[in-house]
Amino acid sequence: MTPEDAIRKIAALCRSRSAISEGGRSGYRSGRVFIDTSGLQRGVVPCPRCGALMGMGSITVCHDDGRTVRFNPRLFHYAEAGHPITNRDVNCKLLVAIMSDA
Ligand SMILES: [Zn+2]
Repeated sequence: MTPEDAIRKIAALCRSRSAISEGGRSGYRSGRVFIDTSGLQRGVVPCPRCGALMGMGSITVCHDDGRTVRFNPRLFHYAEAGHPITNRDVNCKLLVAIMSDA
């Protein structure tokens, strides 16, 4: 799985399920992974690469074993548009490791 695959998997989960509340957080569960969308903000910003509008705030991916990784929702756009996702955007290795258990 590439970081782009992991981001696309998260986007698909968020689209296909209903948000749930869990331990004061809201988001989506898949297997041992909870995708916390409480940090999403209203509003959009233009992509610095292509100008498309992207979401704001943060998404936190939490594994039941305690590992967490956070990323900006602009990465949903990056994955769709084919922009590269690098370690400056997210801890790629950790993201892929956690999402392999989702
Ligand atoms: Zn773009």
